[in-house]
Amino acid sequence: MLDFNALISEKSTNKQALSGTVLKQINTQISNQINTGVLVLDAEFNIVLWNRFLQVHTDKDAANIIGQSIFIAFPELPERWLSRKLSAVLQLNTPSFCSWQQRHHLFELPHTRQITTDSEFMAQNCTFLPIDTDCEHKHICILIEDVTDVCHYQGQLQKTLAELAQMSRIDGLTQIYNRRHWQDSLVQEYAKSRRHTKNLSLMMLDLDHFKLLNDNYGHQCGDMVLIEISALISSLLRVEDIFGRYGGEEFAIILPETNLTGAMELAQRICHSIATAPLKYNGQVIKVTVSLGVAPLSEQTSSYEELITHADLALYQAKAQGRNQVCSATNMATA
Ligand code: GH3
Ligand code: MG
Ligand code: MG
Repeated sequence: MLDFNALISEKSTNKQALSGTVLKQINTQISNQINTGVLVLDAEFNIVLWNRFLQVHTDKDAANIIGQSIFIAFPELPERWLSRKLSAVLQLNTPSFCSWQQRHHLFELPHTRQITTDSEFMAQNCTFLPIDTDCEHKHICILIEDVTDVCHYQGQLQKTLAELAQMSRIDGLTQIYNRRHWQDSLVQEYAKSRRHTKNLSLMMLDLDHFKLLNDNYGHQCGDMVLIEISALISSLLRVEDIFGRYGGEEFAIILPETNLTGAMELAQRICHSIATAPLKYNGQVIKVTVSLGVAPLSEQTSSYEELITHADLALYQAKAQGRNQVCSATNMATA
């Protein structure tokens, strides 16, 4: 509560000292008009004073509340935790604080906001202040600040930031990871596999004669194919596989804990599924094939970049051998 005696400057005392009764009137009126809950307790945690804010926000009988233990008046309070906190305030004679981030609310007071929030109760910042009076025992003042808006907008902000972070990782057309995020993931997976001596394979794939498809059916058809192929490949992967759009019509897949045999099997499955996929655009059947290069992590692999180079060389070989096929990088010379 405000220390009104401190607020009376020397000037005003010189002119006209306010009587204790007037000060009490001022004090009471302010206390009843501020938009903060004010609750004063004695040393046994019985309520000795509460303000209008609390009367308005609870359905409690004002006549009964005074003299009642705070834990009887507000049974929802965490008694063990709060008793300890209040005792510390009294013993150490220092204020204490509990923010809505620690505990969304202490008192179950309904909020009156129009906004939709996750909780039916008012989010609160609570301050606990030791109060010195002429009484033998100290008192404690609890200030209850309504921070429902802050809590709500903070939640919205966190949600929006998470959405933005997700968007910055996703390719707008295909909805799979973009190259930057895919490459960041590769750096991590490479380090993890090296550290724990685990298998790791990389697959690069490129649509065959895609320029021709664009030329024959139009760019929109090309876009549709990229979307459909991405969805088809995604459906063939495990959750831990990391699938990204590496370039225009080039894709890349990180396969954690996968050896060459496993990666080759998957590559063959993808190759076959795409070649036999019933793709249609404006009623016309579209034939699409893909070439794939697979590279496993080996003891000789010196960097993640080298792994990309190996998978790329294998892909180049698949193209050179006639497309619509899979090649592995096992027998290739280090680039
Ligand atoms: P190859 O079998 O050797 O890979 O031949 P290709 O025609 O697929 O390869 P090339 O690199 O000559 O052409 C790739 C084409 O992919 C050219 C480019 O316009 C097209 N492309 C790249 N990104 C997109 C896209 O987002 N949408 C569409 N529709 N086409 C794209
Ligand atoms: Mg291509
Ligand atoms: Mg290409």
